[in-house]
Amino acid sequence: MKTLKYLFLSVLFISANTFAQEQEQPERKPGHTNNNKFKQLYDEFSTPNMFRTASGAPGPAYYQQQADYKMDIVIDDDNAKLSGYETITYTNNSPDPLNYLWVQLDQNMRAKDSETPLIEGGGVAQAQQAGRFASSYMTDGFDGGFKIEAVKDINGKDLPHLINNTMMRVELPKALLKGEKVSFSIKWWYNINDYVNMGGRSGYEFFPKDGNRNYIIAQFFPRMAVYNDVEGWQNSQFWGRDEFALPFGNYEVNITVPSDHILDATGRLVNRKEVFSKDMMKRYEEAKKSYDKPVLIVTQAEAEEAEKSRATGTKTWKFQAENVRDFGFATSRKYIWDMMAVKIGDKDVMAVSMYPKEGNPLWEEWSTYAVASTLKSYSRMTFDYPYHKAISVHAKNQGMEYPMICFNYGRPDENGNYSDRTKYGMISVIIHEVGHNYFPMIVNSDERQWTWMDEGLNTFVQYVAEQDFGEWYPAALSPGHDKYPSSRGPAANIVPYMGGDQDFIAPIMTKGLNTYQFGNNAYGKPGTALNILRETVMGRELFDYAFKEYSNRWMFKHPTPEDFFRTMEDASAFDLDWFWRGWFYTTDYVDMGVKEVKKYYVSSEPNEYAKMMAKRYGMELSDLPPLVYMVEEGSEEFKEEMKNGTLLENSTPLKEYVMDNFSEEERKTMKEPKYFYNVTFEKPGGLVMPIIVEYTYADGTSKTEKYPAQIWRLNDKEVSKAVASDKEIVKITVDPNLETADVDTSNNSWPKEVKQSDFDKFKDEVKD
Ligand SMILES: [Zn+2]
Repeated sequence: MKTLKYLFLSVLFISANTFAQEQEQPERKPGHTNNNKFKQLYDEFSTPNMFRTASGAPGPAYYQQQADYKMDIVIDDDNAKLSGYETITYTNNSPDPLNYLWVQLDQNMRAKDSETPLIEGGGVAQAQQAGRFASSYMTDGFDGGFKIEAVKDINGKDLPHLINNTMMRVELPKALLKGEKVSFSIKWWYNINDYVNMGGRSGYEFFPKDGNRNYIIAQFFPRMAVYNDVEGWQNSQFWGRDEFALPFGNYEVNITVPSDHILDATGRLVNRKEVFSKDMMKRYEEAKKSYDKPVLIVTQAEAEEAEKSRATGTKTWKFQAENVRDFGFATSRKYIWDMMAVKIGDKDVMAVSMYPKEGNPLWEEWSTYAVASTLKSYSRMTFDYPYHKAISVHAKNQGMEYPMICFNYGRPDENGNYSDRTKYGMISVIIHEVGHNYFPMIVNSDERQWTWMDEGLNTFVQYVAEQDFGEWYPAALSPGHDKYPSSRGPAANIVPYMGGDQDFIAPIMTKGLNTYQFGNNAYGKPGTALNILRETVMGRELFDYAFKEYSNRWMFKHPTPEDFFRTMEDASAFDLDWFWRGWFYTTDYVDMGVKEVKKYYVSSEPNEYAKMMAKRYGMELSDLPPLVYMVEEGSEEFKEEMKNGTLLENSTPLKEYVMDNFSEEERKTMKEPKYFYNVTFEKPGGLVMPIIVEYTYADGTSKTEKYPAQIWRLNDKEVSKAVASDKEIVKITVDPNLETADVDTSNNSWPKEVKQSDFDKFKDEVKD
């Protein structure tokens, strides 16, 4: 009998919801698989191995290739032409013998035979820049692309090579074995594109008023492709959008430009005394000791003077860089140049800006401060900035990053006036592009495959850095702004995208080239997802430790998405498979709300449910142990009991149980809730997220509860919470601070907030 009684009790105490489900006919769907949102990511993830471990760290057999470059580059300013000669030394650290090497020829995307224009299926552009229109329809087009003049081995012998669009295969005379190096040289030239009119992430801007050009130069040399344990040779062509996958290496680069040009680049300037004037040298020494404000190395007056003439001679600027994955530079006679020192850890880093007068007054005001501030914020969130400088170059319409140097937009009008939009846009792009030094320049992910790994992580830290900047430089904020108005990061800002047309949304884990709404997909959504993960799901302490761990584990290495996902879980003891699955592998959105609230009272009168269950098991109610019965406000039973006056705030069996089992002392400390609520939450959206609920009581106080996402593990549509309270609840709000990116908040309150429509307001006004 005892056994039966316990069986009965275990059945009795199941919730009313489960009971209801048991009674219904099951829905039968042939061939249907229940894709539980909490299923582990074993199918999506590759098996951990000696190269990459299950913890998300590099394994004992982890390797990466090395590509060292020695280059001589000449800019022909009269013809806007770049020519170069490079010797690449490639080290094979992989266990695999390599019969050939792949070199990336990204400029070929602009070659006449480029296939890039052929994959555009958008039809006639309804509005486009005149320059692009002219090159598409009115001329033969721009003759871009690398003109490869020679590919030779170390003895000057031609190496067989084949060019497949933006990739070149160089065949080796014999296989390159593990630990071996091979050196070879390439000679090339190309016509530099006018990026303002023709597009592109590098090129020149022409200034018709003074006849000068600003050159921002990148992807300018044949670069080694990545070979690794996950992809073999990275063989995804450059179609123009997805960025780059590049191995680390050491660079020695000599760049020859007109002698009146100013130039800065990736790496350490090793012949400063040859290219700087005495004044510049003196100012540079001052700048190295100036931690609170930038020092001008080249003033605006000097830059304006230089614009007026053209030197006939040339100067060669020599740079060396260690452990960088790429090289970029900017040069013009128009540049103003300022620098400031910033302490990062125990090291001094130079924050540098280079801009033509057209960038002022905005650039002299904020660029270098934005660079310095970014280095501090990112170093706190990841690791101390390891390079000796970070340069922000003013470049119309650009936002593009290279190691130690980036090209950024933000130009006042001709009278030097600028809007808030221009100012904040410029500060944000500088923070973003300088931030790219961390992701992907140092935490060197494959941008070609995984746009979000650099853009998403970077957008997330950018948000943190923008908030820091607003706090550290309140003078940069416009009147009425008490904090930096970040456009990406806050959960509510991603709602229009995530709640939009599903036909034009792709999972984050889609290659950038193939996604719709690139900015939202690769920047906004992953950046916001990480912000939500930090603020709402994990909390700052757990998140920040794990994020820092990931950054440090993969500093100067090549991580994959799984290395990130795994490390975040490994370092926090947070099973986040459900989060990665929902936010990164699907296009689900968040929509949660309160469906129904029922109020209960305790009764000592057996209710219909107990009677029914007793009957089902062939027992008498008197056979049962003392039970506490709940009766719903407004139900027939409730009315009956109200009529009979038997509604008890404390049931007799409960009273007896308490008297029998607790001492007088203990009884004094016991709570006596008066109100019992069955709160049913609904989830029309696909994403599982914690339910954040604010309960407001009749006395005006409130309390916020967070139910972990796992509350949805057994029912993806709706769940109910039993809430006991000694105060009456008058209002329930889901996600009161809009931190989950809930796309529809009309179901977030109980009682339902009746929002007055404009028409109703109008009617009311007419009535008045
Ligand atoms: Zn970016």
